[in-house]
Order: sequence, then structure tokens, then C-alpha cells
Amino acid sequence: MISSDTQAPHPPALILFFPSSVMLISGTQVAEKVLAECRAEIAELKARGVTPGLAVVLVGDDPASRAYVRSKDKKCRELGLHSVKKEVAASTTQAELLDLVAQLNADPAIHGILVQSPPPPHIDEAAIVRAIDPAKDVDGFHPVNVAKLALEDPTGFAPCTPLGCQRLLLEAGVETRGAHAVVIGRSMIVGKPMALLLMAKGPGGDATVTVAHSRTRDLAAITLQADIIIAAIGRPEFLRAGHVREGAVVIDVGINRVETPGTEKGYKLVGDVAFDEVAPKCRAITPVPGGVGPMTIAMLMRNTIKACRQLTADCRQHD
Ligand code: NAP
Repeated sequence: MISSDTQAPHPPALILFFPSSVMLISGTQVAEKVLAECRAEIAELKARGVTPGLAVVLVGDDPASRAYVRSKDKKCRELGLHSVKKEVAASTTQAELLDLVAQLNADPAIHGILVQSPPPPHIDEAAIVRAIDPAKDVDGFHPVNVAKLALEDPTGFAPCTPLGCQRLLLEAGVETRGAHAVVIGRSMIVGKPMALLLMAKGPGGDATVTVAHSRTRDLAAITLQADIIIAAIGRPEFLRAGHVREGAVVIDVGINRVETPGTEKGYKLVGDVAFDEVAPKCRAITPVPGGVGPMTIAMLMRNTIKACRQLTADCRQHD
């Protein structure tokens, strides 16, 4: 059973507690804290005549992508950011899209640009990402920003989801220094940048990192050694109790739709971790939904403000 952990040195407002020694790390609450910081920074920038601006480009009409773009636009507006939503037809050519990116690169009111993934198959996504000005690449996918992350250059942009995972660990008071962190997944969006963030020097870093993937032999033998597990696999409830040692911290990045007949939506969202059986073994764990998900958009707002500060030569760093 789960009971509250009276020794947890964490601000109660940010962390929910099960009725046991397991800490449930609420991404919803940490994201609210990040957004409150953003609001304060935007107000301060606006008072000096600068409004951070984010442009989101959507090619085609994929419903999931459209929903993501809408929620980013809504969050920008709520915070008082200048938000530009560019929705173009699925038939848009590579040249037309490159032209749109060039216009946004040149627009002084825009400090962050992202092109919603995935674009239609005829678009060379890597070429589009490379065309974005690295100084406005708030998704952190441009090769310059990948290199800056590896080089631990603080002017770079790290991808928002792993950045959000790191912030959750920091807010929950999880010591990463000297810890063995196992990242499951090696994508450019989550796994690889997560590993780089965890191994970087400084707070939220200094971990000993192992990266596992689909070709890893005996995954459980590796994850059972982990103090911290980051699960970014894309397989519903893949990580089971047998993968996790007692007292581990588990961050579940996965968002999977599982058909659930008889429910209003016909599906439920589950993570990459079999929560019910893994949670009782953990010192701390994130739920799905309400864990990593809300952090991604909050860190996008954070990256946009950082881009604005850097582009407007106000180089005071808050990250
Ligand atoms: P991805 O590109 O499909 O990568 C999945 C990774 O998991 C790959 O590296 C793959 O290995 C590895 N993998 C697959 N099966 C495995 C197995 N049996 N054992 C060990 N490793 C295995 O996915 P992604 O974009 O990184 O996303 C991962 C999950 O996070 C998805 O559920 C996605 O929906 C979610 N996500 C959430 C957010 C958020 O905002 N919360 C953002 C992005 C992604 P190989 O490289 O060998 O194929």
C-alpha cells in the first residue's frame, strides 16, 4: 500500500503524496510553477517594450497535430506571448515551406519557431529543421543546438520534453549527481537529449548514464541497477515491476492511447510504465496523464522567453 512520506524534503505545493512512502511527482503542479515564472518574466519584458513571440507552423490537417498546435497557441495567449499560428495546406511544397521559415527567421517579432511534427511525407523534415535560425529553434532540434547541448553551451536550446523531465527531478529534490540513470529510448526528441542533460555538469546532471534501446540485451539486468529510470519507449505499460529495484525514481515519458470500450472517449492514456505494479516499489514516480506531458509545453514557453532575451541582447540567463 502507499502512504505519505513525511521525510520528503520537497515543497508540498508541488508534490502529491500517495498514502505510502511513494512520492507522486505532479507534472501539472510543477508546470504551473514554471508557467508562473514565465508570466512574471513576460510582464517584466513587456514593461521594457519587448514581447516574446512564438510561431508554430502546421502543414496539413492531422487532427492530433492540429490539437497540439491549438494548445500551444492557447498557452501562449494565456501567458501574454505574441503567438503566430501558420496553418498551411498538406500540398505545400518543400520550397514554399522553406520560404515561410525564411520569413519567420527574418521577422523581429518572432523569437521562437517550430514546425509541428510530423509533416506530410513529401516534406524533408530534417531540411526544414536545418533552415530554422538556430537562435529561434526553441524545439532544440537544429544541429547547432544538438551540438550546444553536447558541448554544455548554455546559449543553446534543449528539447522541451527532456528539459521538462530534468526540471521534475530538480523540483522533486531527486539527487542526480552520482546517481545511475537509465534512459530507455534513443530518439532525438527524448532519449538522446535526456542522456546528455543527465550527464552534463551541474544541478540535474552529473549522473552516470546508461542508454537502452530495442537492441539492448537483458534490459531488466540494466534497469534493476538504476537509481533513476527515464522511460521513453512508446509502448504502453512496457516497464514492469520486475524491471525496477526498490526505491528507484521513475519518470514516465510515454503517452499511449489504449482502446477502452465503454468509456466516453473509447480510449485511455497510459504511459510506458505499468504504473500500478511499478509505483509501490518506487521512491518517486510520475503519473500519466499529469506527469511529463504538461511539462513539455511549459518548457517550450521557457525556451521562447530565453530566445527572446538572447535575440534582444538582454542576455540575463534564467536557465
Ligand atoms: P521513438 O522515437 O519511437 O523512440 C522509442 C525508443 O524506444 C527507441 O529508441 C526504441 O529503440 C526504444 N524501444 C522500443 N522498443 C523497445 C524495447 N522493447 N526495449 C527497449 N527499448 C525499446 O519515441 P519517442 O518520440 O522518443 O517517444 C517515446 C514515448 O514518449 C512515446 O510514448 C511518446 O508518445 C512519448 N512522448 C511524450 C512526450 C510528452 O510531451 N510527454 C513528448 C515526446 C514523446 P530503437 O531506437 O532501437 O528503435
